[in-house]
Amino acid sequence: MLCNDCPRECNIDRNSTIGYCGAGENIIIAKVIENFMWEEPCISGNKGALAIFFSGCNLRCEFCQNYKISHKIIGKEYTPQGFYELLMSYQLSKFSCIDLITPTHFSSKIIEALNGKSLPIPIVWNSSGYEKPEMIEKLSKIVNVFMPDLKYFSSQISSKYSKAENYFDFASKSIKKMKELKPINIFDKEGILQSGLIIRHLVLPNSVKDSIKVLNFIKENIKDPFISIMSQFTPYNNSSIKRKLYPLEYKAVLSYAEKIGLNNGYKQEYSSSDENFIPNF
Ligand code: SF4
Repeated sequence: MLCNDCPRECNIDRNSTIGYCGAGENIIIAKVIENFMWEEPCISGNKGALAIFFSGCNLRCEFCQNYKISHKIIGKEYTPQGFYELLMSYQLSKFSCIDLITPTHFSSKIIEALNGKSLPIPIVWNSSGYEKPEMIEKLSKIVNVFMPDLKYFSSQISSKYSKAENYFDFASKSIKKMKELKPINIFDKEGILQSGLIIRHLVLPNSVKDSIKVLNFIKENIKDPFISIMSQFTPYNNSSIKRKLYPLEYKAVLSYAEKIGLNNGYKQEYSSSDENFIPNF
């Protein structure tokens, strides 16, 4: 079958051709980290997540902190059945959730793997937001928590950093669909999110105005939003941005969020821009 699973719409047979995401037919996992603590408190909790880092990516931002695995394909290959067996080989009660990190380009295979299966901990879809609303609809049958980024508002900026002029168009529609499908956030007694939506936004250097437009979209379109505003930008890989975020830039975005009443969620300590927070591949 030809792959048009994401907004890139490569229209290629992944059995014989490689599309923009770099992935073939099977799921490729670069790394699994047990008890992963570097997500938001309602995701990591006290136990930490079972973090599954997929290889390849359909967005491939030039500054990606995980570029060693997202811009190339490394790791082990799994069929859908093999992927399910891998998850079941862990004692899942030891973790807060299963954190699927950059999974979009394997959406169809992950649905095939997990459809109809009942898992004892939530499945978290930790994505770039560059997805199709119709795929989100299919994913909602297997995903408990959607945790997309909403990275950019401007098509010029998304084009420059991610070669995706239509990023906001798809991400905004997909996030609205996620909210429609998971309208209420449900937490367990330990504060771990069992079902719902968290929208992440990483503030970029020189992009405060774009961040403000992103926040305005959220305020106007998502009822009772739960958001995570992040400061951890680090100029990795071929980043044309050569510096970290200034504290004043982050503060300006946080102040604006507060001013318009977006105060349900998380902000980061400014020191999170330290490289120590980035898992080593
Ligand atoms: S998932 Fe990969 S191959 Fe399929 S359309 Fe997206 S980028 Fe292209």
